Amino acid sequence: MDVTDLLDGLNDAQREAVAAPEQHLLVLAGAGSGKTRVLVHRMAWLLRTGQASAHGIMAVTFTNKAAREMRDRVEKLLNVPSRHMWIGTFHSLAHRLLRHHWREAGLPEQFQIMDSDDQLRLIKRLMKQMQIDDTKYPPKQAQWFINQQKDEGVRAQYVQGVNNPFERTMAGVYDAYEKACQQSGLVDFAEILLRSHELWLNNPDLLQHYRQRFRHILVDEFQDTNAVQYAWLRMLGGSQGQAPSATTNYLMAVGDDDQSIYGWRGARIENIQRFPQDFAGAHTIRLEQNYRSTMTILQAANEVISHNSGRLGKNLWTEGEQGDPISLYAGFNEQDEARFITSSIDSWVKQGHKKGSVAVLYRSNAQSRVLEEAFIREGIPYRIYGGQRFYERLEIKNALAYLRLIQSRHDDAAFERVVNVPTRGIGERTIMILREHARSQGISLWQAAHEARELGLLTARAANSVEGFTQLIDRLSAQTLDQTLDETVHYVVEKSGLIEFHKKEKGEKGQARVENLQELVTAAQEFDVGDSEEPPLKTFLDEAALDAGDAQAEAFEDSVQLMTLHSAKGLEFELVFLTGMEDGLFPHKMSQDDPQRLEEERRLCYVGITRAEKKLYLIYAEHRRLHGQDHYGRLSRFVKEIPTTLVEEVRLKSQVSRPVSSQRAYRDTAALDDSGLRLGQIVSHPVFGEGTVLNFEGSGPQARIQVNFRAEGSKWLVLAYAKLEAVNSERC
Ligand code: ATP
Ligand code: MG
Repeated sequence: MDVTDLLDGLNDAQREAVAAPEQHLLVLAGAGSGKTRVLVHRMAWLLRTGQASAHGIMAVTFTNKAAREMRDRVEKLLNVPSRHMWIGTFHSLAHRLLRHHWREAGLPEQFQIMDSDDQLRLIKRLMKQMQIDDTKYPPKQAQWFINQQKDEGVRAQYVQGVNNPFERTMAGVYDAYEKACQQSGLVDFAEILLRSHELWLNNPDLLQHYRQRFRHILVDEFQDTNAVQYAWLRMLGGSQGQAPSATTNYLMAVGDDDQSIYGWRGARIENIQRFPQDFAGAHTIRLEQNYRSTMTILQAANEVISHNSGRLGKNLWTEGEQGDPISLYAGFNEQDEARFITSSIDSWVKQGHKKGSVAVLYRSNAQSRVLEEAFIREGIPYRIYGGQRFYERLEIKNALAYLRLIQSRHDDAAFERVVNVPTRGIGERTIMILREHARSQGISLWQAAHEARELGLLTARAANSVEGFTQLIDRLSAQTLDQTLDETVHYVVEKSGLIEFHKKEKGEKGQARVENLQELVTAAQEFDVGDSEEPPLKTFLDEAALDAGDAQAEAFEDSVQLMTLHSAKGLEFELVFLTGMEDGLFPHKMSQDDPQRLEEERRLCYVGITRAEKKLYLIYAEHRRLHGQDHYGRLSRFVKEIPTTLVEEVRLKSQVSRPVSSQRAYRDTAALDDSGLRLGQIVSHPVFGEGTVLNFEGSGPQARIQVNFRAEGSKWLVLAYAKLEAVNSERC
C-alpha cells in the first residue's frame, strides 16, 4: 500500500513531523493544532515504512482513554491489531515493566497497587504508631510530602533541607512509610514510576534490552511530565550514560507549554526547554493552524493566555468560521447555574445534536454534585469522566478489597478495609492487637489473625469473629476458583454480605450503593483482559486501581460529559460549558496571590476554552454554596480578559423559577433601572469600597440594595442614601 496516503489530510508542518527522518523531534504547538493527530500518524508512518515494528514502538499518553483511542486509530490507519503494542500512560507502562521484572525491582511477585485512599490510611496508621500529633502534622500533608519527594525521585534517606521540626517529622514519616510499603509489597502511584526508573538504573542490561527494543518513543502532552518521568524518558530515549556507539533511540515529544496544568503535582514546563539540550540534534517543529475551534473561541483563548508571561510563544490561527459569540450567564446561585445548563443542553439536543457532544467543565470536583442532581431531575443522561469516581466509591472499594484478599491474603490495606464490613463484631481494639502483632513479627495482618488466635491474644468472642472472617475469605476464594471474572465479582459482592449490608441502609443511598455494586459486575463483564498472561482478576484489579474510573464513560448511552478542567485535557466537544467562573473558585483562591500559580490557573482556563469546537458558555454564580460555605464570587478575572466584542450576556427565560429573594429583585427592576445599577454590577461606596450588587428589595425611598463588599462582606443599604457609584458598566 502507498505510504503517502498517511500524509493526506495533513498540512505542511504536520507532514514534516510525520515523515521526518529518524531523529529526536519536538512538536511544539497550541491547542487543537493536530499534535495528537501527528503523533498517531507518525506511529503509523514508522510502521508502514518499515522503520519500526509494532514491537519496537512505545507511545505514552496522558490517560488510559487516550491510549485506547490511539490503539483504535492506529488499527484503523493500518488495519493491524495493536494489542501487543506498548501504548499507555506513564503509570501503566511503568507498571507493566514492574510486573515483568518484579524480582529485579526488589518487589514481591504479588505486589499490590495502593491508591491514594489506601496510602492515606497507611500513613495515618504509621503516624499513630509513631505517636505523632496529627493536629500539628496532618496526615494529608505527609502524604503530599511523600508523593512530592517521589515525583522528584527522592528516596526517604536522601530527603534534603530538613531544617525544622516539621520537615524532620515529615521525613521521618516518609522513612517509616517506605519501610512499611516494602515489607508488605505495597506500591503507590508515584512509586510505580520511581521504582521502574530505579529498575533501569540498577540493571543496565535490562535497560539496554529495552533501549534496543524501543527505538521509537512517542510522548503526548509532554509539557506535563514530572522529574521522574523525564528522567525515565531520558534513560530510555536519550544518550545519557551510553557509549557513543550504542543504539540510537528517537524520542518524539509533542506538547504545548500553555497547557501545562500539573505543576502542582510536580510537572515541569522546563522539560520542554531542556529537550533540545538533553536530546542532541533534536528538530523542533511548530504547528500553527488550529482545526478545532471557531475563530471567536480561538481569539478568546489567545487573548486569555496572552496575559501570561514567560511563554515560549506561538501563533495560532484558524481558517474556520467566526462562529457564535461566547455566551456569558450570571446565575443567582449554583442551582440557577445548573438549571441554565440543563435548559441550554435541552435546546441544543432539540436542534439535533448528540448529548455526547456536550461537556460541562468545572474547577473543583465538589461542583459536580449540584450539576448531577440537576441532570437527574431533568432526566438528562450524563457521565462523570475521569477523576476519582466509580472506583473511588466506598462500596466499590469494599468489594474490590474482598477481591484483593482473594487474590492475595497478605494485602493489609484490603484486610483493614473489610475485616469489619459488613459489621461482624470486630472492634478497633481487636484490630489494634492484630496490627501490633503483625508489626512486631513482621508479618501480614492475615497471618497475625491466625497467630493471634493460636496465641490467645484475643478474647474468645473476638477470636471467633476473626476466624469467621478468614474462613469467609478462604471460602470465597475456593468457590470462585473456576469461575469467570464476572461470575467471581457477582459471587463475591453477594456472598461477602455487601449487597445485603447496603440494602439495609436507609434511603436512596443504600439503593445507589447496591446499584453500584451491580455496576461492578457489569464492568467485569465488559472487561477486556487483553493479552495479559496474568489471571483475569488480577488484571481487572490492577486496572481498577490505575484507571480510577475513566473507562466507564464510554460504555453507556449517549450522554453529556461532566469533568474537571484537568481531566478535559486533550479532548474536544462541540459545546462546552465552563462553570463557576468566579474569582476564588477559578482562579482558585489558593492560587490568587501567587503569580506562578495564577499563571497555571490561566493555562487551565486556556485548556478549558480550547476544548470547545463550536460554542462556548461561561457561567458564574453570584452566590454559591460549596462545601457547606457561602461564597459571593466576583466574575473571574479570566472572563474579563476576553474582549467584550466576543461575548454576549444571556438571561434566563422568565418562566424559570428564581430564588425568593431574587424574585423580589426581579419585581423591583424598576428600582434597579432608576439607579442605573444591575445585579452583578461592581459598585463603589465611599466607606466600604468596592463590591458586587447581589440583591434588591422594595421600591421608592424604601428601596434597599444588598452589596457584597470585597473588604467588608455583604451589607444591606438604603439605596437612596448609599451613594453607590457604578465602577464600570461592562458586563460584570
Ligand atoms: P490539544 O492541544 O488540545 O491536545 P492537539 O494539538 O492534540 O490538541 P488534535 O486533537 O490532534 O490537536 O487535533 C484537533 C482537531 O483537529 C481534531 O479533531 C483533528 O482531527 C483535527 N485536525 C488536526 N489536523 C487536521 C488537518 N490537517 N485537517 C483537518 N483536521 C485536522
Ligand atoms: Mg492532543
